[in-house]
Formats: sequence, structure tokens, C-alpha cells
Amino acid sequence: MLPPFMDPVFYLLGKAVFVLAAAVLVSAVLGAALIAYSFKTGHFFMARIMLISVCFLESLIKSIFRTFRADDAIVDDVGIRLRNYINAEKFEAVPMDERSIFLPQCLRSVDCPAKLTPEGLRCVNCGRCEVGPAKVFAEGLGYRFFVAPGSSVIKRMIKKYRPRAIIGVGCSMEIKEGVDLCHGYDIPAMGVPLLTNGCVSTTLDWDHFYDVISDHQASAPADDKEELTIRMYEDGPART
Ligand code: SF4
Repeated sequence: MLPPFMDPVFYLLGKAVFVLAAAVLVSAVLGAALIAYSFKTGHFFMARIMLISVCFLESLIKSIFRTFRADDAIVDDVGIRLRNYINAEKFEAVPMDERSIFLPQCLRSVDCPAKLTPEGLRCVNCGRCEVGPAKVFAEGLGYRFFVAPGSSVIKRMIKKYRPRAIIGVGCSMEIKEGVDLCHGYDIPAMGVPLLTNGCVSTTLDWDHFYDVISDHQASAPADDKEELTIRMYEDGPART
């Protein structure tokens, strides 16, 4: 039996927990509404606040999407675009010959003859998949290009070559982990999500990939601290 003077303490604690839970729920609903609106219209409002809500309330926001029978992959998609926008200015300030690109091995052909090396799979541009031409094009721009079988190769190459900016291709989860990893090294990173996920024969919007590596990805107009507008899609490829 607790002494009577503890009653007001527990009452206040209960009230604080209730207020906190209500605040979290309201924030998640607001975040979900903003994400859905941004995905539908291509306009991002309060981008940084939205990214914070995606980072801290992701599971709750996805539950809200599922409650309304909406595709919760939208949350991942918007989260990646927000991260890219926030990193874009720093990323584009880095010369291309000081950047690295990491592609997942699942993008290559199932008949890929590339040998596994300490720097990942050594693509020989055999013509069986799109990775070869992408490597030639990227290296022509000055990038270091890696086909990574796992995150350990990425960490090793970051330590070895110390790139000042990184482009990573992968599923939403890999991109989120990769961007966080790069954040730990203070490296601005841009994520390019796969079109279809899986362990083999995944697909990528290559036009979008070429846009990003060529710095033709749209940057948002000036941030007025209240509203940000980002073009979410560019028209057509730009491989110049
Ligand atoms: S182009 Fe490169 S990655 Fe694609 S199958 Fe040939 S060697 Fe493998």
C-alpha cells in the first residue's frame, strides 16, 4: 500500500503519459497526411519536419496508412526523396571524381561472369545487363563504381577511398541503412531505390539513375522555412 501523498504524483504521471500519447498520435496522423499529400501532388511541405516524423514515427505512420488500406511503401518512398533533397546541396558541391557509386549485386544478370574481389564484383561489361554500360558511363564522369555484394564491402571501400559523396542503389531498407551509415562518416548520400526488390534480377529506373549521377536531379527551390516545393519527377533521360 502506497502512502496517500503519492496519489497526486501518480495522477500527474498518468496525465503526462496520456498527453504524450495523444501528441504522438496527432503528430503521426499529421505526418501521414503530409506524406500522402506530398506523394499525390509532388509538393513537399515542411520537409524537415516531415523527415523527422518519418524517422521517429515510421511504424505508427505506416500503421495509419495500412488502416486506410493505402500502400505503406509510400512512406519509404517519400522518406528517401526527403533525405535526397536534404543532402542534395552538399552532394552536388562534391566533384564527381570524389564520389562513389554502390550498386547491389542483385541487379546483374543471373549469368554474370564477374569475379568477386575485395572491392566487390568486378563487372567486365559483358553485355548481359545494364550494369556494364552504367559502369562505363559513371567512370567516364569520374565516379568510382562498385557492385557490392554486401554492406561490408561498402564500409571497406569508404575507409579505403574516402569518397566525399556517395550514390547508393538498393531497396528502401538498404538505402535507409546506407544513408545512416554515410551520415556517420559525414558523407552526403543520395539514394536511388530499386523498382522491384528481391535477391536476383531486380530492376531499376535507369533513366532516373543517370539523372542522379549526372546531377540532373531537380533541386528544390529556395527554402522559405515554411514551405518547400520539390519536383518529384524529371522528364526523360539526360545522359549528356
Ligand atoms: S554487364 Fe557486368 S554485371 Fe552485368 S552481367 Fe556482365 S559482367 Fe555481370
